[in-house]
Amino acid sequence: MLLDVSSALREPGKEFAFIHPENIPPQDILGETVTFENPVRMDGVFSMTDDTLYIKGKLTAALTTRCANCLEPVADTLVVPFDEVFTHVDNRAGMEDEEQLSFQGSKVELGHLALTLAVLELPMRFLCREDCEGLLPENQHNQQANACQEELDQEHPFAALQQLLTKDQEV
Ligand SMILES: [Zn+2]
Repeated sequence: MLLDVSSALREPGKEFAFIHPENIPPQDILGETVTFENPVRMDGVFSMTDDTLYIKGKLTAALTTRCANCLEPVADTLVVPFDEVFTHVDNRAGMEDEEQLSFQGSKVELGHLALTLAVLELPMRFLCREDCEGLLPENQHNQQANACQEELDQEHPFAALQQLLTKDQEV
């Protein structure tokens, strides 16, 4: 989305505070989807000196994903400081240098910056808690279930017989 910096163009050298909403599309990180709660927020200050726009502040982005171990939902918030320089260019020739952030007119596109800041800050994997051990192995569940069933049978050795008797009485 575009940030209007015309105030800084009119008054070079003066700092202007800003709050800017931005949208970040869901990201696939090692097969797990990270979904951002849009809009994310950028806030800080910008100022203009000659053809250079200085913009600094922080990106705050709430997100949801799943624990890499147990697959439970995980919510987190990234707070990423930034300090960037955009060059004001009046013609297309200046846009050819892709290493350099630039803008034309009085508005700056911050979508790409927001995405880059957020993705670089993402951990390789999210955990619901630091010591999450993940899912119990499948056979462990089954063993527990079998143990319970045996216990029940021992407690009520005549349960099956009782059912048969009841049925006979009903007939
Ligand atoms: Zn977990």
